Amino acid sequence: MMILNKRYSGREIRENMQLLAEAYSEFAVYREIGVSHDERPIGMIRIGLGKPTLVLTGGLHGRESVNPVVLLHMLERYLQCFKAEETLDGYDVCRLLEQTSLCVIPLLNPDGYEIAQNGFNRIHNPMLAQMCRMKRIPAAEWKMNARAVDINRNFPCQSYSPAAADDFPASERETQALIQVFKDYNTVSYLDFHSRGKIIYYFRRAKSYGFNAKSARIARRLERLSGYTLGTPANEGNGQGDGGNSVQYYAEQFDHPALTIETLPEQAEFPLDCGYQRETYREIYLLPLEMLRTISRIKKGEYQKDVQRN
Ligand SMILES: [Zn+2]
Repeated sequence: MMILNKRYSGREIRENMQLLAEAYSEFAVYREIGVSHDERPIGMIRIGLGKPTLVLTGGLHGRESVNPVVLLHMLERYLQCFKAEETLDGYDVCRLLEQTSLCVIPLLNPDGYEIAQNGFNRIHNPMLAQMCRMKRIPAAEWKMNARAVDINRNFPCQSYSPAAADDFPASERETQALIQVFKDYNTVSYLDFHSRGKIIYYFRRAKSYGFNAKSARIARRLERLSGYTLGTPANEGNGQGDGGNSVQYYAEQFDHPALTIETLPEQAEFPLDCGYQRETYREIYLLPLEMLRTISRIKKGEYQKDVQRN
């Protein structure tokens, strides 16, 4: 359904999620988790039968247009394997998705995606469109939502700092929608996909040494699979204008690993070429399965001896 190296509108992305859930209704369900400030629905697809849930998000930043499509293509591949009872590169997709689930929000910021693809004229609410234009940022480089707030600086956590005097955490509908997902499901981990840099960030300043050591072990597995590099604690957010991230919030509130995966070469230019989708897919399509495998090992108590071997 979702062909790679092709441009999709926000609407097409959402419709594809609905079609996917219909085609695989035995193990997939589509849900609208909220509506953006410019009234675009925010879609989520949940796949799998188990309670322990891994959350995946993409498109928090409008201009990062490659990940939403890649995440959906990946989900479709998982569903094909699940239905056909096939493994995927050695991963037992059936067993994993019988024991766990994925909640995937490929496009948390549909307004920002629309702006980056088609310009400020596509914002229906004239007041919001004006607010965005006043920022004097080219549409193709737009990261924020339709209220000109960066969602990934809007989460209530220790590193949150207001960008303007009247800013407050979780002020945005998109932020609230994701927080509710974290609360509604029995989540055990979180991966947030961004672009660019081909880097995996795992370090959470507010958390303990033990917490970060565990996240680092997981990150190293993902590093090997993707060929990306690991971010060091020094180049992770230090709270100066880059706090309030969804991963920091999740780690602090739920005490489970929360990693940021930065896809695409650092020098990729905006608007991002949809020709990056295939290469990105190859790099990341196994990462959620590896996370699920790790989670099911933790559940069975196999994790400790497994990590000691590494
Ligand atoms: Zn980003």
